[in-house]
Parts: sequence; structure tokens; C-alpha cells
Amino acid sequence: MKTIIIGAGMAGLSAAKNLSQKGHEVIILDKGRGVGGRMSTRTIEQGKADHGAQYFSVKSSEFQALINQLQAENITTKWQLAQRENVRYIGAKGMNTIPKKLAENLNIHLNEKVVLIKKNEVKTESGNSYSFDNLIITIPIPQVIELFDNSEIIFSKNDEKIIDKIEYAPCIAVMAVLKSPTEIPTGGIILENQTVAWIADNFQKGITSVPTVTLHASAEFSKKYLEDDLQLVAIEILTSVRQWIKPKNLVSWQVHRWRYSNAIKRFEEPFYQLENQPIYLSGDGFGIGNVEGAFLSGYFCSKNLL
Ligand SMILES: Cc1cc2nc3c(=O)[nH]c(=O)nc-3n(C[C@H](O)[C@H](O)[C@H](O)COP(=O)(O)OP(=O)(O)OC[C@H]3O[C@@H](n4cnc5c(N)ncnc54)[C@H](O)[C@@H]3O)c2cc1C
Repeated sequence: MKTIIIGAGMAGLSAAKNLSQKGHEVIILDKGRGVGGRMSTRTIEQGKADHGAQYFSVKSSEFQALINQLQAENITTKWQLAQRENVRYIGAKGMNTIPKKLAENLNIHLNEKVVLIKKNEVKTESGNSYSFDNLIITIPIPQVIELFDNSEIIFSKNDEKIIDKIEYAPCIAVMAVLKSPTEIPTGGIILENQTVAWIADNFQKGITSVPTVTLHASAEFSKKYLEDDLQLVAIEILTSVRQWIKPKNLVSWQVHRWRYSNAIKRFEEPFYQLENQPIYLSGDGFGIGNVEGAFLSGYFCSKNLL
């Protein structure tokens, strides 16, 4: 049985790892230059910043088993926020080291954007075709809908009912290199009812040798200004946190528009098989969401194919 997986984020990698460990033939296709999707760490000049997922919790035994292995290899480290009681985890050298580790020994084709799905075949922007017995799609649901609009597969009424439930919040992220470290307690602070909802000090997190912060605008602010000139929006975001990050401390900054950050409305099951098709929808839009939910979604989806 040959499985094609679209997306090398946590869901796709988790599914691929499980299937290939059981001897299945699996190919992952991802449009990006690297693996990880929203588990992303960016280099800015000499600095490094996690700019998608910032940290994660571990609730299930399945995810705990992976994290135990990653802890033993110093890929992850425990992390505690001053404002939260429960222990969280981060990538010790950046969040993207986790998907990079999962990706080892998997058959992954990068820079391959899937643009068309036929009955038992997908086509990519570069003109390549890949046949499949099973297809697992792990990209955010609005992008799945766009892909299907251009494809020869149609959703049933029931399929539509399921996918219509799923919704994501946008997030405008600013990453800035600083002259000197901030005084943000324990390296991260959650702000309520403000332009910025989250500030992370990547220097205190231990992932960069040069002080670098990540700012995530609130979902409300991000939604309102998503299509605006991002350079101007970034200045507004930086100005709103000047009590934490003094303008004179800024060296340089970058801004990024995440159209889909966290899945705020999800289908309750960890994955969904389209009616009468060997096509499975997986990712953080299914189950408990976030990094752990994406991992579990891929895991349970693949388990169903074994
Ligand atoms: C700003 C932000 C902050 C977050 N904070 C947290 C946090 O603190 N804690 C937490 O637990 N979670 C957080 N999350 C959510 C978490 O990152 C996601 O839930 C999780 O990483 C989703 O994994 P996934 O595999 O479902 O999807 P993704 O990581 O999005 O993977 C999908 C992959 O599909 C690829 N792709 C898309 N379209 C195509 C196509 N047509 N062809 C080929 N490839 C394609 C993409 O390149 C991507 O690599 C955050 C996310 C963002 C963006």
C-alpha cells in the first residue's frame, strides 16, 4: 500500500513515522523549503526566534512517549511560564528541531506544492505526479477547500458538514533582534486585551545567543489588520509593547502573516475519512488541536491504515 501525505508539519510527520516504522511505503510532499510547518524557527541576522508555535503541553501517553525520547536526546526541554502552573515543553534549540528530528529517515519531497488531486494521483506545481492507495491531507482546512476546488474530487454533503465546523485564528507575528535582553519573566508573557497577546524572549528561552523577541498580535487585532501593509502594522505592534521593548533597544525586525495559527473550532475526532474515498483529513483542525493535537491526529489517522 502506498500512502501520500500532504504536509510535513507535526501531523504529517507523525503519520509518516508510524506508517514507515510498520513497513508501509510513504511519501510526504510539502510546499515549503523545510519541514515543520507552523513549528517554525527563523534566523534574523545573528538572532533566532520561534515564530509559530511557542511551547506545548503534553497530556496523552502517545505524545508523552515521543517527548520522553526527545528529552533523552536533549531536543526538548521542560519550560514553565510565570503565569501558568503546568509545566510546558519547548525545543531546546528552537521549536523546529522537533519536526526535524521526526523527519529523519522519512521520504520527504520539499518544494512540492500539491495543486491537483485526481482519483488515485496528486499533481504538484512543478509538474510531478504521485500515485497513491491512500492520501492523508494535513494542511489547514481552508487550503484543503481551495485545493479541492481545483481538483477532480468533490465533497459529499456529510464531508462539507464536517469541514465547515473547522476554523482557525489568524496571527500577525513580529520578530525583533535587540541590543540587550528584556526583563520578561521566565522568557514569556501573556497579555490580556491588548494589541499583543504574547511576547517571548528567545534569549531567555535559550535558543539564541543574541537577544531576539517574538510578538504575537491578538487574534482580534490580527483579523482586523491581516490584509493591511504589514510593515506599518508591525510598527503599531512594536509601539504597543514599548514598556517591555524600548524602541532604542531595537536592532531590526521582521513581520509574518499567519493566516491560520491555532484551530479555534475543531472536528472532535482526531481525523476524518472522506465518504467513499481513500482520502483522510488530519492536522490540528481535528481532535484537541495545537502541537499535541496535530501529532495525535497524524498518529491515529495512520493507525487506522495499519
Ligand atoms: C503564530 C502561532 C502560534 C502558535 N502557538 C502555539 C503554541 O504556543 N502551542 C501550541 O501547541 N500550538 C501553537 N500553535 C499551533 C501549532 O503550531 C499547530 O497546531 C501545529 O503546528 C499544526 O501542525 P499541522 O501538522 O496540523 O499543520 P502545519 O504545521 O501547518 O503543517 C502543514 C504543512 O502543509 C504544507 N502545505 C500546505 N499546503 C500545501 C500544499 N498545497 N502542498 C504541499 N504542502 C502544503 C505546509 O507547508 C506545512 O508544512 C501556533 C501556531 C501559530 C501559527
